[in-house]
Amino acid sequence: MRWSHYYLYTTREVPADAEVPSHRLMLRAGLIRKTAAGIYTYTPFGWRSLAKLKAIVRREIDRAGGLEMSMPMVQPAELWKKSGRWQRYGKELARLEDRHGREFCLGPTHEEVITTMVGRDLSSFRQLPINLYQIQTKFRDEIRPRFGLMRGREFLMKDAYSFHTTAECLDTTYQAMAAAYRKIFEACHLDYTMVEADTGAIGGSDSHEFMVLAQTGESEVVHNATDGYAANVEKAEIGALRAPAQEEAVDRREVATPGASTVKEVAELLGVDVLKVVKTLLYQTDQGVVAVVMRGDREVNEVKLQNLLDAEFVAMANEAAVREATGAPVGFAGPIGLAEGVRLIADESVRPLTNFVCGANKDDAHFTGVNWGRDAEPDQWADLLLAAAGDPSPLGGGELVSSRGIEVGHIFKLGTKYSEAMGCDFHSEGGGKEPMIMGCYGLGIGRTVAAAIEQNHDEDGIIWPIPLAPFQLLLLSLNAKDEAVTAAAEALYGQFQEAGIDVLFDDRKERPGVKFKDADLIGIPIRVVVGAKSLAEGQVEMSLRRTREREMVAKEGVLARVRELLAAPA
Ligand code: ATP
Ligand code: MG
Repeated sequence: MRWSHYYLYTTREVPADAEVPSHRLMLRAGLIRKTAAGIYTYTPFGWRSLAKLKAIVRREIDRAGGLEMSMPMVQPAELWKKSGRWQRYGKELARLEDRHGREFCLGPTHEEVITTMVGRDLSSFRQLPINLYQIQTKFRDEIRPRFGLMRGREFLMKDAYSFHTTAECLDTTYQAMAAAYRKIFEACHLDYTMVEADTGAIGGSDSHEFMVLAQTGESEVVHNATDGYAANVEKAEIGALRAPAQEEAVDRREVATPGASTVKEVAELLGVDVLKVVKTLLYQTDQGVVAVVMRGDREVNEVKLQNLLDAEFVAMANEAAVREATGAPVGFAGPIGLAEGVRLIADESVRPLTNFVCGANKDDAHFTGVNWGRDAEPDQWADLLLAAAGDPSPLGGGELVSSRGIEVGHIFKLGTKYSEAMGCDFHSEGGGKEPMIMGCYGLGIGRTVAAAIEQNHDEDGIIWPIPLAPFQLLLLSLNAKDEAVTAAAEALYGQFQEAGIDVLFDDRKERPGVKFKDADLIGIPIRVVVGAKSLAEGQVEMSLRRTREREMVAKEGVLARVRELLAAPA
């Protein structure tokens, strides 16, 4: 491709809302253009990179037994009412009406459509298992679209759905898809990890996320290199925490703690260790108001809480609700004397505490010397602790380490949730009718490309991994007015094209400085520079964007060297 005939416009300026490197660089390198908040146009240059990822995804999902198809973006409301998600999905679901007043939505995902189709077409165990997938545009009206392609409202996803007669059969496909995902991210040269993920209210089944490790990632993962445990922090279990020393019970006393409402302030005021002070957090949920007693120095995992309650939503109670439940302003809640109907759940981490301090449900007051059993008893004990770096791994290998990740893929054993709701049944070998057992497998196309840039860039621009680069090679001719240079560059361009190498030829009549700056910004992995001086000695300069190492190569040997570099690992 000749740059002079191409649609590739780099820019210096980036909007202030471009907070992360991949977003800034995708705009500056002319890969994407913003059309509206969270809605982007992919330029011919950017689209090439997405196309390369799509080809890798297709190759591996096909090998894992997937059959490619395509489903509509506009979906009738009836399907979503049938699954119950028309109400439950909330505002992320963009709804619309046609001219006849019929309701539709823009598909944020496709379980309803695929399950309906499969339920109509298949009826026998003999037709299963089946694994269907598409690479298609999704729309989710995200509350906070940001980071460019990383969290868009309109975005491309590869989504696959598998249908089975038994849990064992689902497991086989699930493992095959996990292996396919590994191959995809390895083929892209990404540094990634597979972690256990929350399964939500469906519970019980397996779910794993694929995380590309990057500082700017929105997810937190914890792992232990010795025992191999790795999980999204939302899901992470923790080994036994060290139990505090048990004390002889003392009398419970109410003490004045004016103005001291945080654990730290209370501990300082009373001169006790923060570990002696518990906090009591109030939540509003669709299952009523819940008070959670937690170790003073630790956080509640709200996903665990939501799963425990089987709740649709869980949110911190507002000031008025706190006052109603405790009779006190925020900061003085405790497990003793809560209002009628408030469910009290205590985290396992506070069970071994003796003579602890808690809020007295009274303005400016706390209790000291509180003991479980004698002074208070929760309705339920539960594990609601949010894992943190330094906690013991549940597999016993030592401390957990925390890192940030970008969730690029998510695989999930759905079970019969959708097949039951949508009536997707099969006749079993025994003759009975049973709901099909399902798995689903998502992979964000744009998010993965953005993650690749997040992991591969420097202050000058993108450093594409070869498999995702829009072009493999950038050919630069420096002295456009020099006939020998032009002729040599044209000859090399012809050679590269003939050899099937993905080449972008910067034949623009720009100054060398401009060309080099752009070359660094767009980050094509291999660079070949034809300039008058070296050409006089029969040589051209070659370099790699990643290492910036330069070498002089006789112009007859360039093609062979390029082939060598393309074959080399990463
Ligand atoms: P998140 O927690 O980041 O919102 P999700 O759990 O909603 O993700 P899934 O429904 O599992 O995501 O979607 C499958 C994949 O689609 C994700 O792993 C991610 O790669 C991609 N994806 C999801 N939402 C977006 C988005 N708003 N923009 C770009 N890609 C997305
Ligand atoms: Mg989401």
